[in-house]
Amino acid sequence: MDFSLSAEQQDWQDRAIAFAKENLVDDLLGRDERREFWREGWQRCARFGIQGLPIPAEYGGKGQDLQATIAAMEGLGYGCADNGLIFAINASMWTNSIPILRYGTEAQKRQFLPSLCDGTFVGANGASEVDAGSDIFSMQTRAERRGDRWILNGRKVWVTSGPVADLFVCYATSAPERGVMGISAFIIPRETPGFRVVREIPKLGVRTVPMGELALEDCELPLESLLGREGRGAEVFNCSMEWERGAILAGSLGTMKRQLERCITHVRTRKQFGKPIGKNQSVANKIVDMAVRLETCRPLVYRIGWLKAKGKDATLEAAMAKLHVSDCYVKNSLDAVQLFGAAGYVSETGIEKDLRDSIGSTIYSGTNEIQRNVIAQHLIR
Ligand SMILES: Cc1cc2nc3c(=O)[nH]c(=O)nc-3n(C[C@H](O)[C@H](O)[C@H](O)COP(=O)(O)OP(=O)(O)OC[C@H]3O[C@@H](n4cnc5c(N)ncnc54)[C@H](O)[C@@H]3O)c2cc1C
Repeated sequence: MDFSLSAEQQDWQDRAIAFAKENLVDDLLGRDERREFWREGWQRCARFGIQGLPIPAEYGGKGQDLQATIAAMEGLGYGCADNGLIFAINASMWTNSIPILRYGTEAQKRQFLPSLCDGTFVGANGASEVDAGSDIFSMQTRAERRGDRWILNGRKVWVTSGPVADLFVCYATSAPERGVMGISAFIIPRETPGFRVVREIPKLGVRTVPMGELALEDCELPLESLLGREGRGAEVFNCSMEWERGAILAGSLGTMKRQLERCITHVRTRKQFGKPIGKNQSVANKIVDMAVRLETCRPLVYRIGWLKAKGKDATLEAAMAKLHVSDCYVKNSLDAVQLFGAAGYVSETGIEKDLRDSIGSTIYSGTNEIQRNVIAQHLIR
């Protein structure tokens, strides 16, 4: 296995770092406190090409492979501390753009992908319901075909970007008696009659991207809104999760690298008892553990890009990457707080923000317990 980046992939990473350092620094801590989404930052990323990275040029994208996308996202996470903005980009890319690219009709691709790539649209994903989380295919949202329309009824929760999104890929069942095979995927523009964002849901971390609850009340869609085939929504969802689990934490590799560098500088310069705190073995060991964790995460993520470049399924490897990277992300963030002492605990340094931002990663895109189930199923069968 050779995960080294090509000159073009490396160039995307280098340019993403330089772009983020120059264009994505603003009042981050203020926006985090105010729970504010930065639309201008979203559009700057789109102009640079981030949202369109894995989308072919004919649909407005940059036509890059997954490895280049992962490399650029790692660079973005390193150069930009706005983990919420990066999370929003990931949600839009993996749950809207990729499923539309893979399962959409030619007309759907031409209608929606250019706007998702150029920053006009923020995409969001409505799968979870209050009573259907890990057991996602037990969803109750109904889709009924009436003449030349689909009528959807139900509620979706925990929707990343929900309050600000322009486009939604939502899942509903048209045949509950058929279980998983009754579920279909739908593309829903925000202004669709019968569709509304009920409320914004405050949360612990990634506060710069709002989370919302959606109501579908006789939500009326043309037949062409179906994404993929009727009754094949689970396939669309699983494809979306394979890509998302594999790549959503690429940005977090960059965050962890930035965190580690900041911690190293701190333990070298912060003096207590007349010497740098890093001279104490129990302090130095935290740095060692952070570095080792980061190094074990990178190959797991880049392996997904490598497998996808070979056209292989990466369901097992994506579950492993999601499980391990999110665990390491939380542990490194906790170590960073400890290394900074009170300065790590207070809001004004931004160190506790990374910890709050990291915790969701063990829950979204399937909890880590569910990732373990997926891995166990593959290994034990
Ligand atoms: C920050 C964030 C963003 C999110 N964004 C979106 C989004 O954009 N769109 C969307 O649709 N959803 C989104 N979600 C929802 C997310 O997908 C669900 O939270 C997740 O699938 C878990 O479902 P649940 O919260 O209902 O927990 P539950 O399924 O109720 O699980 C509760 C606990 O029980 C454990 N558990 C449940 N079943 C099993 C089992 N079989 N084996 C072992 N353990 C089990 C879980 O691991 C967990 O620890 C988001 C969540 C978060 C935190």
